[in-house]
Amino acid sequence: MPAPDFDLVVIGGGPGGYVAAERAAGLGMKVALAEREALLGGVCLREGCIPSKALLDSSEHYAFLGTRAVEHGIRAGETSVDLATLQARKQAVVEKLARDVRARLGRAGVEVVRGSASLIGPGAVGVAEANGKPVVLRTARILLATGSEAAGLPSLPFDGERVVSSAQALAFEAVPEHLVVVGGGYIGLELGSVWARLGARVSVVEALPRIASPLDGQVGRALERSLRKQGLDIRSNTRVADAVPGAEGLRLKLEGEGAGELSCDRLLVAVGRRPLIRGLGLEATGVAIDPMTGRARVDAAYRTAAPEIYAIGDLVDGPMLAHKASAEGVAAVKGMAGLPAEVNYDAIPSVVYTSPEVASVGLTEDALKARGVPYRSGAVPFAGAARSLCAGETEGFAKVLAHGRSGRLLGVHVIGPRASDLIAEATLALERDLTAADLARAIHAHPTFSEALREAAASISG
Ligand code: FAD
Ligand code: NAD
Repeated sequence: MPAPDFDLVVIGGGPGGYVAAERAAGLGMKVALAEREALLGGVCLREGCIPSKALLDSSEHYAFLGTRAVEHGIRAGETSVDLATLQARKQAVVEKLARDVRARLGRAGVEVVRGSASLIGPGAVGVAEANGKPVVLRTARILLATGSEAAGLPSLPFDGERVVSSAQALAFEAVPEHLVVVGGGYIGLELGSVWARLGARVSVVEALPRIASPLDGQVGRALERSLRKQGLDIRSNTRVADAVPGAEGLRLKLEGEGAGELSCDRLLVAVGRRPLIRGLGLEATGVAIDPMTGRARVDAAYRTAAPEIYAIGDLVDGPMLAHKASAEGVAAVKGMAGLPAEVNYDAIPSVVYTSPEVASVGLTEDALKARGVPYRSGAVPFAGAARSLCAGETEGFAKVLAHGRSGRLLGVHVIGPRASDLIAEATLALERDLTAADLARAIHAHPTFSEALREAAASISG
């Protein structure tokens, strides 16, 4: 058999795939990356993390002018939104970052091949390029990093107009009159916040008793109170029983705790995502797929059941988060190079970019109770932090959970200003097995929001 052209072919240019490809090249491998879309960066960059945060930031500036600016003595007069400029700015951010990814891969020496890839034989990846010319990449190893797609609901199929996915809800050209979001998870709450801040009436229909149910209960309840105060109509324990299209939109019948009828011009279905393996040609390879989750089964080194085929990111178990995908990509290629590597799944931070932001790492109080772990809990409101008063951002609290005997940190949950950045310190502390006393002992700059976190740790470490 002729020698393969590549040591590794990565399929998928998202935060899992491109980070893995860059690192593999840095480790001396000859690497190709196949991506079917023109812009590199995956769902995260094209229609996920980045465009949603750009819209969240823009809409937050607008909301500030209409609400808290006055407290600061700032009178902006009549304000309005130029949605075309706001959307163009978002797209410019996306395209700039996609160019940066391409440049990084170029510098690393990764060969990027545009087209839809599939496994066409042992050690062979076929890429159907957009211009119709198929390319065959012969390789020693394959890394699957094809990510996920919106799951949707069979009773509410996406039509791109009335019933939309998150990708379409990121690109609305007009502010909806009434946006109904089915699913009160990450996407529902973030995109619901964007459009509510820009002037839409927003209703969130959540099947479970609580929105954002993986959050620590105390934090989740605080978030729900805050979003209701901002005008979101949140209906938990509720489902859409019927949807009838009309001239202007949809008439919905809701059943459950929030039962009733609603009319809306747009309906966003955000009920989770499913792994994307369609068209990859895995059937003949021996790659095992979990029939319950649809995810590829891998071992601790991200090897599938098929020889020399690996998988990472949204395609495999664990939270569907960009930084988790990247961490797995790095660990997978280090493992291929014979280097020690692991991902610490107990210290993966997650953030909901609402206002206030919510950020967590480690176990929730509910999980500690369920496991019977002895623990101590300390929560300190931001209202007491000097910096919060200066900023006029006093909502929320920092909560620290530590082992009842050793004081080892088990979970940190923050709802409040800049929670997304505060969680980095807590993640490092959990990663390094630090105690609440360690966190409390470290000197925190004054006045900063981080003092609330330090005080929460101090309140349980004595
Ligand atoms: P992806 O990013 O999905 O990349 C897979 C790539 O593979 C895609 O570019 C796809 O085109 C390509 N591909 C698929 N099949 C083929 C094929 N056969 N041939 C060639 N190419 C193929 N996560 C966060 O951590 N923070 C956030 O703030 C955040 N916000 C989000 C907001 C939204 C609206 C959404 C939808 C998701 C968000 N996520 C966020 C989740 C995050 O986007 C995913 O967890 C992450 O993108 C997964 O990375 P990945 O590399 O596994 O896959
Ligand atoms: P999700 O799992 O976060 O939330 C889905 C919600 O829909 C859940 O609360 C679920 O109970 C509810 N639901 C399910 N079926 C329903 C039904 N029939 N009727 C009403 N409610 C129903 O999923 P998502 O919001 O679609 O996001 C997908 C994934 O993308 C997330 O799990 C997350 O991993 C990732 N994401 C992350 C971020 C971030 O990191 N900030 C932002 C957006 C997306």
